[in-house]
Amino acid sequence: MSVYINDICINCGACIDECPVEAIVDEDDNPTGEEVYYVYADKCVECVGHHDEPACATACPTEGCITWDEIKESPSHREDVTAEMRSSKANVIN
Ligand code: SF4
Ligand code: SF4
Repeated sequence: MSVYINDICINCGACIDECPVEAIVDEDDNPTGEEVYYVYADKCVECVGHHDEPACATACPTEGCITWDEIKESPSHREDVTAEMRSSKANVIN
């Protein structure tokens, strides 16, 4: 469960402070070496339990920059997390 920042990111910084779990790093700390912001998939919770929708995507001014469907290794997506899973204390990542 994670969002993904793709290479059309303009490094504006609007997303980074919106993340409730500090999953986003800037281009200087991007482990891939690309000059764009980066989301750690193992930290991102798609804002479940924090916001009604992913706050970074809401803040991002670049349409199509933050996506969900390109995640290859993401175990589950926001729409797959049921209300029961959200109210549970169990880890929703399976
Ligand atoms: S979706 Fe939410 S938790 Fe994930 S990176 Fe964006 S702001 Fe952070
Ligand atoms: S808000 Fe969007 S364009 Fe700006 S740094 Fe974050 S991902 Fe990149």
